[in-house]
Amino acid sequence: MENIVVIGGGLMGTSVSWKLAEQGAKVTLVEQQEKAYKHGSSYGAARISRSLGPKKDIFAFVHNRTVKEVKQLIDFLNSETTSKLHAMEDIYSTSPVSYLYTKDDYDQIDKLKYKKQRKDYRRASGDSAFRKFGVTLADDQILVREKRQYSGTINPKELIRKLRLGIEKKGGNIKYNQKVVRLIKKGGDFEVTILNTKTNKSKTILTKKVVVAAGPYTVSVLKDFAPYFNRIITPKRVLLSYFKISEERYEQLSEAEKQSILTAHPMFSQIGKQYFSMIEESPKKGTPIFKAGGHKSRRNIIDIDSVWEMPPRKKELKWIKKQFRKQLEMLEIYLKKKDIELVDAYNCVYSVTRTEIPLVTPIFNQYGTLDKNIIVIGGMSGVGAKGCLGYGAIGSNLILGNPEERSKIYRKAAKAFGNPSVRLYTRRPRRGRLF
Ligand SMILES: Cc1cc2nc3c(=O)[nH]c(=O)nc-3n(C[C@H](O)[C@H](O)[C@H](O)COP(=O)(O)OP(=O)(O)OC[C@H]3O[C@@H](n4cnc5c(N)ncnc54)[C@H](O)[C@@H]3O)c2cc1C
Repeated sequence: MENIVVIGGGLMGTSVSWKLAEQGAKVTLVEQQEKAYKHGSSYGAARISRSLGPKKDIFAFVHNRTVKEVKQLIDFLNSETTSKLHAMEDIYSTSPVSYLYTKDDYDQIDKLKYKKQRKDYRRASGDSAFRKFGVTLADDQILVREKRQYSGTINPKELIRKLRLGIEKKGGNIKYNQKVVRLIKKGGDFEVTILNTKTNKSKTILTKKVVVAAGPYTVSVLKDFAPYFNRIITPKRVLLSYFKISEERYEQLSEAEKQSILTAHPMFSQIGKQYFSMIEESPKKGTPIFKAGGHKSRRNIIDIDSVWEMPPRKKELKWIKKQFRKQLEMLEIYLKKKDIELVDAYNCVYSVTRTEIPLVTPIFNQYGTLDKNIIVIGGMSGVGAKGCLGYGAIGSNLILGNPEERSKIYRKAAKAFGNPSVRLYTRRPRRGRLF
């Protein structure tokens, strides 16, 4: 009999497991991949971390909470060793975050959102952008630059490594190469059937409580307990491309130009297909590796397992490369097609809810009864990484049955991440019927 089983060891599963272990809970984390994390939404060394929003913005809250929690994790890990091996800089690369808008969209948002946060960001339109940021813009565009400590990028690979270290040091148990193939409830206990992917043998464990944090696989993990979940979250394919500027061309750039390229990353465009780009790797010498994609060019998926091996679609790749070139043209750095080398490209996956608001919530079983001993942390789309420990903190409080934290913004966030599911399920299911 296990106490709490967490299914999935990506950013969400490790975050919630760490928060549980930190509070003294007996936690078992089950992960289908081997120790090296290779396939999942959290794969890679960079995700944009940003906190621009109004004062009581729930996404700014989960970001800020994550920064605070990462500090605590680092302090804990350092307290366990004689030399200080861990630092915030292993996880965060602080750099201005650029947001590109059309003027019309920005005016709408500005009225609602950013007024209260003026000190953290600067904005510039076509006329002033070059003076303020060294960037040329079309007349109908606005660039906003957020400047805060730990806004820039967050490193999922390193954070997962440190969280797993923390979980084990706190007595948590992590099982790799273990795939959950069945999750049901009998009597008062959950039965979790786990397949060892190395030996092909399976066994069933019993547990009182379950956290499902299986990213895009959440629907398949819940196929028996809550089959309706295929209507709640949808896995999507997003192409990621990695570029570098050819060594020869990079050497021709002045130091000021190289610096302006670094300052212009990460960037998140709110226009059209929502192009984003960031620095994935920054070697001491030579050209950085840039990662780029477009959130709104994502597609539905038929078979998640084969998506990683699917060759990138030429049309999508071409679009991303074109956007990357255009981004550098905004800095008045003109590159020929051959100056941009493709380092890698693959299809990545994340899952989205209908409202695009993530879920951290207890769920209903297939008969429409709410079960507070099982929660889902999922539907994270393209915003999960920066707030992972915020979601983890809310999730661990829910599954432990802790009283809600007192701050208003915590309550607002917990309600927002919990309520959508409750609203969805209570409207549809009829008791006693599968849906
Ligand atoms: C292209 C792209 C760009 C993004 N950009 C940003 C960004 O700029 N900023 C930001 O904040 N966020 C961003 N995100 C979102 C962020 O990366 C995700 O929200 C986050 O990584 C989700 O983590 P997860 O733990 O939910 O999922 P995952 O990392 O997929 O973890 C799920 C884990 O569950 C395991 N698993 C699945 N099924 C089973 C099973 N049956 N048994 C056992 N284990 C199982 C998987 O192997 C996996 O390790 C981006 C995501 C993508 C894909």
